[in-house]
Amino acid sequence: MSARIIDGKVIAARLRTDVAAAVRTLPAQPALAVVLVGDDPASQVYVASKVKQTAEAGMRSVEIRLAAETEESELIARVATLSADPEIDGILVQLPLPKHIDEARVLAALDPSKDVDGLTEASAGKLMLGKPGLRPCTPTGCVILAKSERPDLAGANVAVIGRSILVGKPAALLFLEQNATVTIAHSKTRDLRMLCRGADILVAAVGRPEMIKGDWIRPGAIVIDVGINRVPAPEKETAKTKLVGDVAYAEALTTAAAITPVPGGVGPMTIACLLRNTVLAACARRGWTAPDMLAGG
Ligand code: NDP
Repeated sequence: MSARIIDGKVIAARLRTDVAAAVRTLPAQPALAVVLVGDDPASQVYVASKVKQTAEAGMRSVEIRLAAETEESELIARVATLSADPEIDGILVQLPLPKHIDEARVLAALDPSKDVDGLTEASAGKLMLGKPGLRPCTPTGCVILAKSERPDLAGANVAVIGRSILVGKPAALLFLEQNATVTIAHSKTRDLRMLCRGADILVAAVGRPEMIKGDWIRPGAIVIDVGINRVPAPEKETAKTKLVGDVAYAEALTTAAAITPVPGGVGPMTIACLLRNTVLAACARRGWTAPDMLAGG
């Protein structure tokens, strides 16, 4: 048996098409501001993709690039200005920020109604309380991918490995919102293998290359691999490094019913969900009815 591959590129493209169609029905063009501080190469690539895909979805993109040595107070002032600007619907501050800047203080300056990354205290609080709000993008992508295999998650046993603010915790709450039975594991969890073996849906968000082995996976499970780890490539390959997930992919293919590849699984969903959040934020702020954009998540 070989697992079905959950093609995040295809599902993300479908979501982006839905978002673009939704944008065409709106009375005006939503605008997303992306703020990048410094010259981290990975962040530059992410920001370039976000800017490009925002424009492709028919939305206005505002890009603000600041030098790595920008003072925290200046960044906060910039975010506050964008928060007060009625023409801006969504604000994304690309993380990580340079070490001398406190992320929490910057996020506190962000108007929660424009928090398209779903990372402010207000957004996290709404998620915790089960109130409508802007949900974090990567975990939302995980739910959409799981639902592409199992549309009704009610009663499913979901194990989320990782409890970060960015991925693990919100993913657990989003699966709970879908009426799944959720267990959260972390570095102090005992007998992780047994815990994984009990999961109908396994969400790996650890950041350790191929840590989760094939025989940790329950036969027939759905595996959502969030991990992005750069490792040395085998000598026979021309590239020096390659990307792998947190799950031993080749092994998992023989046990799981379905699995997301790395790259091409969860990654593409993150930006697609960001675009959807920008439309949702624009609709909520401007009193427009939000169009349907791929149910789930
Ligand atoms: P963090 O480092 O913030 O969190 C990792 C979590 O894994 C922690 O909760 C940690 O536990 C847990 N952990 C670490 N080691 C173990 C272990 N041996 N057993 C069980 N749990 C363990 O990472 P993120 O959540 O930010 O990211 C996780 C992965 O997802 C990374 O590879 C990252 O690159 C990727 N990622 C991918 C995205 C995408 O778009 N596809 C977006 C964001 C992240 P503890 O809390 O106890 O320390």
